[in-house]
Amino acid sequence: MILTSDEKQIILDSIRDIPDFPKPGIIFKDITTLLSNPKAYRILMTHLEKRYTSYDLDYIAGIDARGFIFGAALADRLGIGFVPVRKKGKLPYTTVAEKYSLEYGFDEVEIHIDAFGVNKGKKVLLIDDLIATGGTAKAAASLIDKVGATCVEVCFIMELAFLNGKKGIKAPVYSVLGID
Ligand code: AMP
Repeated sequence: MILTSDEKQIILDSIRDIPDFPKPGIIFKDITTLLSNPKAYRILMTHLEKRYTSYDLDYIAGIDARGFIFGAALADRLGIGFVPVRKKGKLPYTTVAEKYSLEYGFDEVEIHIDAFGVNKGKKVLLIDDLIATGGTAKAAASLIDKVGATCVEVCFIMELAFLNGKKGIKAPVYSVLGID
C-alpha cells in the first residue's frame, strides 16, 4: 500500500513546474504531464486503488476540474459512483452551495442536492490534485456534510505543506506527495 521511494519519484518527476502561472510568484504544478505518462499515472492510480479498497466507500467526490480526472478513474477502479463538486453555475439540477475566501474576494462550489441518493450517511472520499490554502477542499467537504453524507477522508496528489492548508479540514487528510 505504501509507495516505494522510486515510485514516488516517478510520479514527482512526471509533474511539471510552471513558474509565474497564472500570476507572478505562483509555481503552478502541471499534472497534464503526469496524465500523459502512462507509467506514472498507473503507479498513482494503483496506489490509490490499493489504499482505498479497504475503506468500504460508497462514492468518490472530485473537485472541479482536476479532481474529476483522478476521482472518476478511481471510482471506476473501486466499482463505486463518482460525484462532481463544481464551480458555481455549472450543475443543472438543484444544488447546495458553499462560499470560500480567495486572496481577493471569494469563490463558490456546488453539489447536487441528491448527489448521494436518499439514504443519509454514505461514505465519501473527496479528492483533488493539490491542496494549497485548503479553502476549496474545506468548502467541498462541508457540502458533502450538508447533503447528509460523511466525508471519511480528503485525498490530494500533492500538498503544499508549508501552507498547512489541511489544518482547516475536519476529515483526515491523505496526500500522496508532500511539496516543501
Ligand atoms: P486552495 O483552495 O488554496 O487549497 O487551492 C486549491 C485549488 O487550487 C486546487 O483545485 C488546485 O488545483 C488549485 N491550485 C492552487 N495552487 C496551485 C498550484 N500551485 N498549482 C496547481 N494548482 C493549484
